[in-house]
This record gives sequence, C-alpha cells and structure tokens, in this order.
Amino acid sequence: GPGGLALLGAVPGAPSCPHGPALLFVKISQGKEEGRRFYACAACRDRKDCNFFQWEDEKVSETRLAAREEYNRNHQPSFTHRQNVERYKNFVLLPLSKRRFCQECQQLLLPAEWEKHSSHQFLCDISTAQLRSPSQLLDPLENKKTNAQYLFADRSCQFLLDLIISLGFRRVLSVGTPRLHEMIQSKASQEEDFRVRSLLLDIDFRYSQFYMEDEFCHYNMFNHHFFGGEAAHETCRKFLYQDKGERVILVTDPPFGGLVEALASSFKKLMAMWKETEKQGNANQEMPMFWIFPYFFESRILEFFPSFSMIDYQVDYDNHALYKHGKTGRRQSPVRIFTNLSPSTIVLPMEEGYRFCSICQRYVSSGNQHCEICDSCTSKDGRRWKHCIVCKKCVKPSWFHCNNCNCCALQNHTCEKTDAGCFVCGKAGHKRSTCPSLS
Ligand code: SAH
Ligand code: ZN
Ligand code: ZN
Ligand code: ZN
Ligand code: ZN
Repeated sequence: GPGGLALLGAVPGAPSCPHGPALLFVKISQGKEEGRRFYACAACRDRKDCNFFQWEDEKVSETRLAAREEYNRNHQPSFTHRQNVERYKNFVLLPLSKRRFCQECQQLLLPAEWEKHSSHQFLCDISTAQLRSPSQLLDPLENKKTNAQYLFADRSCQFLLDLIISLGFRRVLSVGTPRLHEMIQSKASQEEDFRVRSLLLDIDFRYSQFYMEDEFCHYNMFNHHFFGGEAAHETCRKFLYQDKGERVILVTDPPFGGLVEALASSFKKLMAMWKETEKQGNANQEMPMFWIFPYFFESRILEFFPSFSMIDYQVDYDNHALYKHGKTGRRQSPVRIFTNLSPSTIVLPMEEGYRFCSICQRYVSSGNQHCEICDSCTSKDGRRWKHCIVCKKCVKPSWFHCNNCNCCALQNHTCEKTDAGCFVCGKAGHKRSTCPSLS
C-alpha cells in the first residue's frame, strides 16, 4: 500500500520480547511528514510468531511490564545450553539401542524421558555420525517469513570450506551457517591434522543439544543479541582473539527476508569485537567476511559495506526448490558471496563453469562476457548481458530501453513513476512487487 515501514534500528533502552531487544521502526503514511515510531520483534517478520508491539511514545504500566517479563521468561527454551550439554554427555554414553531422537520435539531423548514422548514419532540408533551432522537430523525450519533454513548443498559447502582454508583462515565465525559449522567441527573431530575451528552463532536453539558452549552461541543477528548474556559474549570474544597465524573470518548466510540494515549493523558490531581483540596494530583492517546473499541485494550491501565486492560463484542449496542445481534444465541460483577480500584471491572452479578474466583480475561465470564499454564483466546472473548506450551500462538480455521510463526494463512492463526507490534493489521507477531483479 501507500507509505510503508522503515527500520530505524536497535536503540538503547528498547523494550524486549523473547527474542531480545526489539527494533525501532517508523510507519510512514502517505502525505505525512513524520511517521509514528514503534518497536517490534527483531527476529520475527510474522506477527503470528511474535506479536510484540509497542509505540515508542506509549506509556507502559508497571503491571504490564511485569507481565511482559514473566512472558519473556516463560518463552525461553525449556533446557538451558548448560543442561543440554550435560544431557549430550549422558546421551553419548548410552549404547546405540538406547539413543533416541524425538522428531516431534526435535530433541535427543534420555531413557527416562521415553515415557513422556511415547506417542511421538522418533528415530532410534542415533549414531556418532548422525550426532556430528545435526543439520541432517533436525528438520529444517520452514517458516517462510521468520526462519526459513536453506541448507548448503554439499558441493557449495565443500567449496566454501576449501576456499576458507586456501585463503589461510583457521577460525570461522559461522553466523547462521550451521551446515558449514558442522562440516568444520566434524572434520576437526575426525582428522588429526585438521586445524580449522568454528563457532556457530544462530537463533536456532536446537543446535545447543549438539554443541558445547564454546562451539555454539544462541544469537539473534538482527539485533546482535546474545541470549547467553555476558558469558556468551565472552565466548565469542575469546574465539575472535587470534593467536599467531590463526586468521579468522566471519561467514554468514542470513534469511533473505530483508532488513539488510539491521544485519549490517550487527555484523559491524561483530567486526568491532574482532577489532578490539586485535592486539597487534591491525587497527586499520576490517575483519574478513563472506556475506552470502542474493545478487539483487548488491547495492544494499554496498551501501553499508563499500569495500565489499560480489563474487560470481553461485551458492546452491539442498532444500530450496528454486536455488538448487538440477541435473538437467538447471536453474541458476541467485545467491552469491559478498566479501571484503580481494576478488583476485577468490579462485572459482573451472569445472563448474567459471573462468578468470585477466582484465578484471577476478574469476567470473563463463557466460559473463567482458564489456569493452563498461570495461568490466558486468553480468550479475551468469547470463550474457548486453550494453545499452542510452543507460550507459549493461542490462539483462531480456530488457529493452524504454524511452518513457528512461531506463531499460522488460518489454511488457507497465511504465510507472514512483519517487521512492524500490525496497529490493534501491532503484527508482518501480516498486518491490515489480522489481525486475525478482523476475
Ligand atoms: N546455508 C546455511 C543456512 C542458512 S539458513 C547452512 O547451510 O549452513 C539461515 C540460518 O540463519 C538458519 O540456520 C537460521 O536458523 C538462522 N537464522 C534465522 N534467523 C536468525 C536470526 N534472527 N538470528 C540468528 N540466526 C538466524
Ligand atoms: Zn519476538
Ligand atoms: Zn572482465
Ligand atoms: Zn556494458
Ligand atoms: Zn537502457
């Protein structure tokens, strides 16, 4: 509709819901200069998942505050991370025949608890290998708006890990990348000379059943909230502290549902934590990072991280119908890696259809032709793009220049002028619903 919502961000003194401090938004109504500000949950886009709402100028009574605190307490997980660690230690002592996993509660069961779950579906004989791959054991969360979990296809995960190792990193801060984390931790526990370690930060508390407190922190990446408080903060800080040669990189694959500014602000805080732990004068450096996100968010990400570039590599997923490589008629994944490392150092596999452009000094999709006029390899989606002399840039092969809109667009687009930039790509001339990036 007209108007819209804008995020103002995490502000000091914000009220909390079960997902940590709420974010401040402003509701902009058409024709009104100043919108009304309100707080809403930092984790859930869907009111069904968390209905926290409070006007910024609203007076909240003591009774309501107390009720809210009570509510927040009651909506924490039933076991603490510490308790889950204890449970895990007991679980691995059990013989295979007594190791059960309740599929309904998504929980490892100790024999004393079988009774309570007797009407639930469960898996038995949970092996050590299964415990090392919790992302296979747990059902991916499928809530579209709040927490859709799209797990890396094995070859993308392996590619990322190989890349990280070849770049000389020994520590990975895995923010919302449970599958990468588990690949690293699993190798570390099995291969003696494997030196890489990972710390997983994720809002999915189910992972606390499988990882120690120095391997997993319950974390909200939209408001940089550590549910484990100061102790968890300290775990993260410690992990970021680099011993000689133990270079660390932040790798993240956030939900695509938007709020780029909230994510960016949290990542900046994690980067700042890294900087603070940096004892030996790397003060001007930025913490190395891979931010995995669709290519049509490029301009939004660069707004917050001007030093980043987008790498042509297409990240594939196991459980995403659109983004996975099929055997035939394969669909191209729109998901890319954004990084502050020099693109020339990111080597992409020839056998998967990438080539090195010696002019751009970076690896690109083989279909990404070097444009003489732009003097760069301009395609974002891997297909060959064409140059528009009027727009003075390369555009998608399916686009044509529209004199009405004064830009290139799909031939059957409806010419319409809107002043505000599109939510997805930031460009003027269309709204989010008709964003050409999404077509
Ligand atoms: N491709 C990744 C998973 C990406 S899915 C992999 O295979 O490892 C997005 C991940 O972000 C999920 O693990 C999800 O639990 C987590 N997540 C979603 N919302 C979050 C939030 N607000 N804070 C932290 N993590 C979140
Ligand atoms: Zn909430
Ligand atoms: Zn080039
Ligand atoms: Zn061009
Ligand atoms: Zn044009």
